[in-house]
Amino acid sequence: MNENAPALPIEEPKEEKRSLNFVEQIVEQNLAEELNEGRVQTRFPPEPNGYLHIGHAKAICIDFGIAQRYGGVCNLRFDDTNPIKEDVEYVDSIKEDIHWLGFEYGNIYYASDYFEQLYAFAERLIMEGHAYVDEQSAEEIAKQKGTPTEPGVASPYRDRPREESLDLFHRMNAGEFPEGAMTLRAKIDMASSNMHFRDPIIYRIIKHPHHRTGNTWNVYPMYDFAHGQSDYFEGVTHSICTLEFVPHRPLYDYFIDLLKPQDSDYRPRQYEFNRLNLTHTMMSKRKLLALVKEGLVAGWDDPRMPTICGYRRRGYTPQAIRNFVDSIGYTKYDGMIDVALLEHAVREDLNRISTRVSGVLDPIKLVITNYPEGQTEDFEAINNPEDPTAGSHVITFSRELWIERDDFMEEAPKKYFRLTPGGEVRLKNAYIVRCTGCKKDADGNILEVYAEYDPETRSGLPGSNRKVKGTIHWLSIAHSMDAEVRLYDHLFLDEDPSSVEGKELAELLNPESLKVLSHAKVETFLHDAAVGAHYQFQRIGYFVVDKDTAKEGRLILNRTTSLKDTWGKIATKK
Ligand code: ATP
Ligand code: MG
Repeated sequence: MNENAPALPIEEPKEEKRSLNFVEQIVEQNLAEELNEGRVQTRFPPEPNGYLHIGHAKAICIDFGIAQRYGGVCNLRFDDTNPIKEDVEYVDSIKEDIHWLGFEYGNIYYASDYFEQLYAFAERLIMEGHAYVDEQSAEEIAKQKGTPTEPGVASPYRDRPREESLDLFHRMNAGEFPEGAMTLRAKIDMASSNMHFRDPIIYRIIKHPHHRTGNTWNVYPMYDFAHGQSDYFEGVTHSICTLEFVPHRPLYDYFIDLLKPQDSDYRPRQYEFNRLNLTHTMMSKRKLLALVKEGLVAGWDDPRMPTICGYRRRGYTPQAIRNFVDSIGYTKYDGMIDVALLEHAVREDLNRISTRVSGVLDPIKLVITNYPEGQTEDFEAINNPEDPTAGSHVITFSRELWIERDDFMEEAPKKYFRLTPGGEVRLKNAYIVRCTGCKKDADGNILEVYAEYDPETRSGLPGSNRKVKGTIHWLSIAHSMDAEVRLYDHLFLDEDPSSVEGKELAELLNPESLKVLSHAKVETFLHDAAVGAHYQFQRIGYFVVDKDTAKEGRLILNRTTSLKDTWGKIATKK
């Protein structure tokens, strides 16, 4: 049980019917105009301050997808400008998740690679009168910002001599001043209608070792000062990001105009698409980190998390995630996507690849009283009707079986087509049986169910064609093994948990988001199941072998999703 399931090849989503998205249209137009000598270079620029989530998958698909489609290159760049929040653990997980999604990055870059260049550029800005050291606190600066309709107030340090600013900036970096004592601000326009132009802070003092540069620096560039220039240093042509960066774009362009040689035509161009928002899901890394830190989930890869590693553990496939992203597309309008669409893509892909097995989540014993003791029969179970190469395996029938507790009712309503005294049901792939009764304890709890089989109805014989309304799944008790099954539901009760105000994170959680069934039964066929292997339990849903299986030496399965869109319930319909 220790081996990991092999990864399956990932295909490009089928796109015969899809028209070009707006970014692809732009790229094609740029190629036709021979902009940047026909070069296409993109990047995926995560800040290594958390694990990637499904929203990042959407960004990854377009960043890498554009490069792939147009023969360009997509690099991975870590925007590591804030050493306090960043860590190598996140760097490593980001690389792993991109690979798992099926993408190859060109180079790996770090914004911290450019700290020298950015620092030199900042010095230049100071000496050219485009930046100054401000000795006010960040709060004071924020108060002076004004509003979109009212101009801001100029800092008293705005017009200090350039040499003085330069000297202070050097001393900030030499570690002479405490954090918060002063900042370097771009000197642009305190009355601009774009708030980002009102003398934004471009450097601050941080006295915390950086995961790559250690204690080399005491000043760090702000994201807005590093991002656009990093794109420029790398030669990015199409800088694709989400819509909230629209108002930042003119600022990036402003810095690049100051940075680039006058006679050079090259500049990165930024294009913005709608970020992914999913119902019943929170995507902000800050919130996800809080869930982990407060112990509200079992880590970044808790199968209820919208992280790539959480979905992987849950049994979502990279193909399903990419098909989902392809199906929702890229637009210029923010909106909310129903998480059921993602689940639909997962079911479609799992239907294609999962091995069909029998599992009983809440077992009760069924005794076939007219079946000889000690006798067994082997039936053939097709592994995957969607995949002729998947073969079959043997499922053994015997006198004592496990069936689902709710597949029997002593007093059943009219439309109940499962086992009830006097009624007939088909045991999938085996025989038709007639229920003869049950045994109960003193409190009326059902202990065992009894039935008689009809030998003429053996699967494959003409008698098996007899019409019965219900089919149920079963396991031979002697040929089954124990499994722990973990059932998941939405982590958040609210459709849009991010918009709920005045509630703690813990109060927003669905108390039923995880149910552990410790006495489930599965075919012994799963004895050597590999971690990450996908199974469809007939009539119940899709399951994946959890990594705890290897750790604990017993079979632990996560329910990836039910067979139909019936959250929180086991689909018991035929
Ligand atoms: P936070 O979640 O705290 O807002 P972030 O997700 O923006 O942080 P980054 O590491 O900066 O964190 O994101 C890297 C890239 O992924 C950015 O280009 C960003 O636009 C994109 N991205 C982030 N969230 C989404 C989302 N929900 N949908 C699409 N793209 C996203
Ligand atoms: Mg961000």
